[in-house]
Amino acid sequence: MDQVTEIFGQNVFDEETMRERLPKDTFRELQKTTQEGKPLNIKIANAVAHAMKSWALEKGATHYTHWFQPMTGVTAEKHDGFINPDGNGKIVMSFSGKELIKGEPDASSFPSGGLRATFEARGYTAWDPTSPAFIKNGVLCIPTAFCSYSGHALDKKTPLLRSMEAINKQAMRVLKLFGNEDVKTVNTTVGPEQEYFLIDKEYYSQRKDLQYTGRTLFGAPTPKGQEMEDHYFGTIKSRVQAFMNDLNQELWKLGILAKTEHNEVAPAQFELAPVFTTTNMAVDHNQLTMEIIQRVAKKHGLVALLHEKPFEGINGSGKHNNWSLSTDTGVNLLEPGDTPYENAQFLLFLAAVIKAVDEHQDLLRLSVATAGNDHRLGANEAPPAIISIFLGEELAEVIDALESESPYGGHDKELMKIGASVLPKFPKDSTDRNRTSPFAFTGNKFEFRMPGSNLSVSSPNIMLNAAVADVLEEFADALEGADDLYDAVHDLVKDTIHEHKRIIFNGNGYDDAWIEEAESRGLLNLKTTPDALPYSILDKNVELLERQHVLSRDETLSRYEIMMDEYVKTLNIEAQTMSDMAKKEILPAVSAFTGGLSETILAKTSVSDQIPVTYEAATLETASVLLAEAYQALEALDAAIAEMHAMEGFEEKAFYVRDALIPAMDALRAPCDKLETIVSDTVWPFPTYGKLLFGI
Ligand code: ADP
Ligand code: MG
Repeated sequence: MDQVTEIFGQNVFDEETMRERLPKDTFRELQKTTQEGKPLNIKIANAVAHAMKSWALEKGATHYTHWFQPMTGVTAEKHDGFINPDGNGKIVMSFSGKELIKGEPDASSFPSGGLRATFEARGYTAWDPTSPAFIKNGVLCIPTAFCSYSGHALDKKTPLLRSMEAINKQAMRVLKLFGNEDVKTVNTTVGPEQEYFLIDKEYYSQRKDLQYTGRTLFGAPTPKGQEMEDHYFGTIKSRVQAFMNDLNQELWKLGILAKTEHNEVAPAQFELAPVFTTTNMAVDHNQLTMEIIQRVAKKHGLVALLHEKPFEGINGSGKHNNWSLSTDTGVNLLEPGDTPYENAQFLLFLAAVIKAVDEHQDLLRLSVATAGNDHRLGANEAPPAIISIFLGEELAEVIDALESESPYGGHDKELMKIGASVLPKFPKDSTDRNRTSPFAFTGNKFEFRMPGSNLSVSSPNIMLNAAVADVLEEFADALEGADDLYDAVHDLVKDTIHEHKRIIFNGNGYDDAWIEEAESRGLLNLKTTPDALPYSILDKNVELLERQHVLSRDETLSRYEIMMDEYVKTLNIEAQTMSDMAKKEILPAVSAFTGGLSETILAKTSVSDQIPVTYEAATLETASVLLAEAYQALEALDAAIAEMHAMEGFEEKAFYVRDALIPAMDALRAPCDKLETIVSDTVWPFPTYGKLLFGI
């Protein structure tokens, strides 16, 4: 066997391992319960736990943990040893079914948005058998959902599983209408493309902003940026290649299908894309991928920056969420087929996505709203903050023809009749040319390009699944009583396109004219996180999530508070870090530099007043003026931080951050960045963009 085949999945308790290690009937029972989503009985749980433990011990594991995804956006784990005294001075290694299916971590330090009163600090974790257990750093990790004792979801996995169930239920109803007797389940599939930067660890450790906030809060542009476009798909440097090779090995061991790697547009920026899989697994795998990218980078003397916008003036990093629907029989429901029947089904699902995205633009937008992503949306190369759908010329033409009942182009013009006509063949590459659309149809899937590199892709998929499930429910309700299915589908698709075509935009999304046009179409343009998040608690959205059993009203309200709070906390840390760096590093360095210039001027002119001191005098004056300006801005920033701290409500704070704190930060950065360009490299207190971006 070749090396990759051999190591792939070696640290995963996957289906194959279970089939090998579990008694036949236990394996069958487990399969059944996971497929039907029923709770496990304790006998089976004990048998599975036993097999899992022996497997983990053989692999050198000593501990186990319930691995979960609290609202912090990163994963959490608390390790417990298998070790237990046997009563005779020796030990046994034990792990029970009860320990496998349920854990009770102290949950008081995780964000709950008021859902868990402090007197009831306990939460519980419950095994999610749809995502396999794995070994990481000698610890057996069991993917789990995390809830409060009252049963409220406190994590990012629970609502994702619920949203997948919702879409499965409604998509199955639609598929039944078209026959499809052999299909048992419909899953959403996701392939998240992960972008990141790599910088030298040495430089990283000299910058407080990178250490505390993950991005640079100061930094003047370098003489060379990304304008030569010489990095994208360029040859990968050997140091980076060594890192990538190591990274792939680690990911493959965990059964993660890391496939594509390349240089990205910005200097020091890279991308890794896996082969797509079921959404739940894709999210778990992406969380692991982010963790492992960072760990492996350290081993190579590098630091991986997952922040959405580590450098001003340089491309940010995104995480394109490729999304589709597929049956357990392997049919991609967003793949246009060859027969009128397949086409009808495809167009119905396509119409459902169009309607869902139009009606819930706000939910999609806010699902990717974070302080970090605010720098990216609308900036260099990133999609604007407006949601629109790109279909590609050919498909857009078909949709148009359907809607207006006009003959469709091509050789022999004919009327498109769903159920009777066959769709023309779309050349795949022609559907993938538009890189500026935030939500693009790319031949057999949609690519949602707004998520930032640091985001758990759980959030956007929860909203997308819930919104599409809701429309499919409506469609199924309308079609189940139809006399002639194909006539009814034809009218439904036609009407849906007519009502929602405003969301379709095939032009250049980076063009300023589009912003005006979008406004005239009534599309939302929610520029910042505090602009977007309040939409989550609009009745229409709370009700949608309730109706699809994805989030209860209380859960939605708590998430609103958690996300607003996270925004405020992030900016608070950034503002305090800026203040600290200005006060203790930049201003003293500039003061010393100007002091040196004054001394030089005095020394030179004391020798002879014939010696020119034009450089010293001019620089002294410019630097001193900027220094005074920076000092004034620093005082103002400190005052703004204090004012925010004195505020009570999370909403008041979030809006204050947007309207006052961020402008105060910008006002401090401007003179400091100018100073960086005139002060000597030898006295500037930390590595500049040049070193960070071109130093590996
Ligand atoms: P690019 O967008 O860079 O042109 P591709 O189109 O080849 O790259 O694929 C990007 C990502 O989309 C990959 O992670 C791939 O696995 C994923 N993908 C492909 N098909 C599907 C699908 N049916 N569902 C979800 N993701 C998919
Ligand atoms: Mg892509």
